[in-house]
Amino acid sequence: MSSQDDSSSKPTTNGEIIIGIDLGTTNSLVAICDERGPRVLPDAAGRAILPSVVRFTDDGPPVVGGEARRLAVMFPKETIYSVKRLMGRGLDDVAEDIPHLPFDIVGGENDTARIRVGERIYTPQEVSAMILRELKVQAEAALGTPIRKAVVTVPAYFDDAQRQATRDAGRLAGLEVVRIVNEPTAAALAYGIGQGKGAKAETIAVYDLGGGTFDISILQVTPGGEAGEDSFFQVLSTAGDTHLGGDDVDRMIMELVFEEIRKEFGEKLTFPPCTQQALRNFAEAAKIRLSNEESAQLQIDLGDGRVYDRMLTRDELEEMMEPWVQRTMVACDRAMRDAKLDAGKIDRVVMVGGSTRIPLVRKSVGERFQCEPYTALDPDLVVALGAGVQASILAGTNRDMLLLDVIPLSLGIETMGGAVAKLIVRNTTVPTRATEKFSTSVDGQTNVKINVLQGERELVADCRSLGEFELRNIPTMPAGIPQIEVEFLVDANGILNVSAVEKRSGKVASIQIVPRYGLTREEIDTMEQESYTYARQDMHAHRIIDLAVNSCLDIKWIRDAMERVGEGLDAEYGEKLESKIARLQEFVDRSHREPAKIDADEFYQAKEDLDQESVRLHEQAITRSLKEEPAG
Ligand code: AMP
Repeated sequence: MSSQDDSSSKPTTNGEIIIGIDLGTTNSLVAICDERGPRVLPDAAGRAILPSVVRFTDDGPPVVGGEARRLAVMFPKETIYSVKRLMGRGLDDVAEDIPHLPFDIVGGENDTARIRVGERIYTPQEVSAMILRELKVQAEAALGTPIRKAVVTVPAYFDDAQRQATRDAGRLAGLEVVRIVNEPTAAALAYGIGQGKGAKAETIAVYDLGGGTFDISILQVTPGGEAGEDSFFQVLSTAGDTHLGGDDVDRMIMELVFEEIRKEFGEKLTFPPCTQQALRNFAEAAKIRLSNEESAQLQIDLGDGRVYDRMLTRDELEEMMEPWVQRTMVACDRAMRDAKLDAGKIDRVVMVGGSTRIPLVRKSVGERFQCEPYTALDPDLVVALGAGVQASILAGTNRDMLLLDVIPLSLGIETMGGAVAKLIVRNTTVPTRATEKFSTSVDGQTNVKINVLQGERELVADCRSLGEFELRNIPTMPAGIPQIEVEFLVDANGILNVSAVEKRSGKVASIQIVPRYGLTREEIDTMEQESYTYARQDMHAHRIIDLAVNSCLDIKWIRDAMERVGEGLDAEYGEKLESKIARLQEFVDRSHREPAKIDADEFYQAKEDLDQESVRLHEQAITRSLKEEPAG
């Protein structure tokens, strides 16, 4: 299959805002992209995700979104969901879906699928228009300006009739749909693929695993070039399964629980529908927890003093999920075959859909396509964000944001005491890579938090945190012994991958970030300017922090050594050490209270004095240890 995005109408905008809409089967979102990058627009209550559900009422306007979804069981005939499955389709096309939808579907003109609610017949376009209108109003409220134009996304496999129906829905909602964009194309755009001066032709896969459906698309990206023409995304192939998704995993957990309850309590327990629904939510919560934790407790009070209680580990869940993940891999292989490509030819994979948060899914996709998949953006928002990017390209409002081929602000991590260690300095051209070694500062520290920072200043408080992650389960070791290597990797699209590995134990953790999003050009310039203004002050502060951190470690080691030598320590020498420790400790204490007032050279000298004085102590301590150790 080969299709490309419809570019029939090229808007002239005069700076008019165009919104991007992800009109989804289950949920819909609206986004824009400005200088700061793409962002979704929430409603007045702060909710960005609008359930694609409409309930018709007898005496008022239709209810759209969360409330309609919440009361769906009470109004099964009036509540319309999954209308996207009906868009532009004939009654025959949707025969398989009809038994799963509780509302009435009837044949209309040319046998097209229509929806009957009471006496009235609605086209799927009309119902979709209600969702689009809600999003339009949401965007207008968020932006404080009327909106007339939108980019709307559709699945890559949508045919002309389905695309036309989507356009018509927009028109009914009072929106001119200036472009229909394929969902995988939007996901790629959200990551800036195909944008920027240095962009190269790429082949990418978009792996979209949601709650109930799975889609894989292979795209050929041709970048737009210097003159600012649009980049070109051609769909080489698509594959998938309309009945494969995270819901299956929830069911697997439920079945496990049912079976074990029956085994343990030896009865034929039956569960009424409302209990089943509660159990489904419970299973989903356990699944989601296991994406972050190694284990989750499953506890259900069955009444009469009977409690089902067990620990489910991530390993167990992964074993259960393996065949399910493999089914997505079979579809990936099919898509690659159809595109006449093998995995090595895929440059990147973009992850879309809530189920791509599952670590096993990420790992399997990475292995199959032999590259680290893109996960930096929220997989539930990425299509909408890309629609926002496409909208801003058409409106001509954000060229600057996209055309960066250098790192605009330095990137680093937080070190002890609130200082910043920069790994990549500003204006480095992408792609680039840097590594640095760190260690722990506390004995027996098993978890290390890594805070990724952006900015030119020396202290964490003056930089922007881009995200943080934890390297967990490091074996217990004394402070300073673990060897933690942090790697920053920025690829050609400007996506930053930060990974940390503890070399002795092999423990790893990582995070992905899009560092160029979130700041305007002006803010970047201000941050740069401030780094010059405060250069002297910052350098002093950084030096004091480093001295304080190192002094604390020195004092700790010296105290340990004094304890080891114990009685063998000559009293006069002990006193000398104590007085030098006290002097250095005073600097350390002052460094917390009034760092700016400390003379860094004096502080340094106090540390040097103690270090010199302690040489003899360390020799004694080593001699003592050697005597105590068994020979050899
Ligand atoms: P979507 O259809 O893209 O909204 O995806 C919804 C699916 O993603 C549901 O099955 C959710 O249970 C699943 N999901 C969301 N967050 C997580 C998570 N952190 N770990 C595992 N599954 C998740």
